[in-house]
Amino acid sequence: MRISNWINGKECPPQDDCWLDKFNPHSGEILSQVADSTAEDTRRAVSVAEAAFAAWSDLTPVRRGQILMDIVAAMKGRAEELADCIAIETGKPPQDAKGEVGAAILQAEYFAGEGMRLYARSLTSGTPGKYSHTVRQPRGIAGLIVPANTPIANIAWKTFPALICGNTVVLKASEDAPRIALLFAQLAKQAGLPDGVFNVIQGLGQSAGATLVTDERVSVISFTGSTVVGRWIAEVAGRRLARVSLELGGKNPFVVCDDADIEQAVHWAALSAFSNAGQRCAAGSRIIVFKEVYEDFRDKLVAKAQNLKLGVAAGCDLGPVVSKRQQQSILAVIENSNREGGTTLCGGAAPSTAELSNGYYIQPTLVEGLNAHAELSRKEVFGPVATLHVVETLPEALALANATEYGLTAAIHTRNVDRAMWFAQRVRAGVANINLGTYGSEPHMPFGGFGASGNGTREPGVEALDVYSELKNISFLIRPNQI
Ligand code: NAD
Repeated sequence: MRISNWINGKECPPQDDCWLDKFNPHSGEILSQVADSTAEDTRRAVSVAEAAFAAWSDLTPVRRGQILMDIVAAMKGRAEELADCIAIETGKPPQDAKGEVGAAILQAEYFAGEGMRLYARSLTSGTPGKYSHTVRQPRGIAGLIVPANTPIANIAWKTFPALICGNTVVLKASEDAPRIALLFAQLAKQAGLPDGVFNVIQGLGQSAGATLVTDERVSVISFTGSTVVGRWIAEVAGRRLARVSLELGGKNPFVVCDDADIEQAVHWAALSAFSNAGQRCAAGSRIIVFKEVYEDFRDKLVAKAQNLKLGVAAGCDLGPVVSKRQQQSILAVIENSNREGGTTLCGGAAPSTAELSNGYYIQPTLVEGLNAHAELSRKEVFGPVATLHVVETLPEALALANATEYGLTAAIHTRNVDRAMWFAQRVRAGVANINLGTYGSEPHMPFGGFGASGNGTREPGVEALDVYSELKNISFLIRPNQI
């Protein structure tokens, strides 16, 4: 199967006719061939988005919302097909893929409704008879760049707020989850989205994605991905004063106090560290536990990790990571953790069973005994791997939680409201959860991080509208002699 770009409402093969192989993460077999787009392909998509802008931005937000609501209906009608595609491309068990489609639909529904709520402010004035109000206007062309970990959710997260604000879109799909972007584009057209308003470029970041960052016509870049690429985007797009929204990596702390409900803490720690095969920016990859309960918690978490079922069948707990490259880099970091004094309590390798050995699997892995400076304590690995750390007090737990360049999410488990709120107020993270996992955002809640986890923007929630729109202040003077 060949997966093309989507430009001006139709499939467009890459101009150079070059294709990349996309592998099935579960079996290691070739799944499809993906357009290996060049800068020229991307520029073509930008030109089409530029031409479509006037008509799309001229529609009232309410009308745009109605069209987006029709896309929501189409997503609901084809939810199973979308979930099947995600399950195969990313290696997610089916119930997780369905859950992700449900989350994307909710996201889409929320922003489609914003068409009737694209509020701004009315203001007072120091001049008699003068009145002021602000309006939201689109930025222009939005360049959206997404990773593969939750592909349809990532697409919905950016596309719907960008479109409701009146922008046209060029989406750079993930090379590891290309087909879902094409399916979404086809479905949006069938639902009534005018041609040229939403375009998809497939291919690699350097060749296809970077052009979105450098093209002067793209006035807002929203990027979800690694911190290293995010830094480059901020620098290059910043130079030409494009608006940039960065949703980057995390190394999120999960704190277990001595008064925590240990069963609940184990349940949430396992989900935070291992669900989606650990491929979450919000994964709980540093588990910080009070000394009094450390052994009890550790033994229960190790038992839980060892009982998790790997595979892509219904009911499996986690699938493979998305690519061989990612699998190999995770295994290398685990190996290095042993050289740095860590002890692998469980996992630590790819499974050897015949059924899984060709896929990009990593057994759920827990490592203890590393200090805060070890590579695995600092580096985001984006796989089912977490470190365990012992502390004696809450201030010590907080210091360790904050000992990272990232600051995306955090969780604490305690029955004590004073401890919970003290920690939540002080932890350096954009999201702080109490007695929950480190993940679990909802469409109306702002998400984003401190430090190397982003550049201070928040998506989704109404805050996403600030990313995709420009505020204009309009004032007028009432002339009393004219009444
Ligand atoms: P990545 O940065 O390698 O790639 C992400 C996307 O950017 C891909 O589509 C890729 O092709 C593209 N890209 C790569 N180089 C580019 C360049 N120079 N110019 C333009 N585009 C480029 O990240 P990944 O490994 O695919 O994804 C995992 C990362 O994403 C992790 O760091 C994870 O934490 C992060 N992430 C963050 C969030 C969040 O909301 N904060 C959510 C999900 C994932």
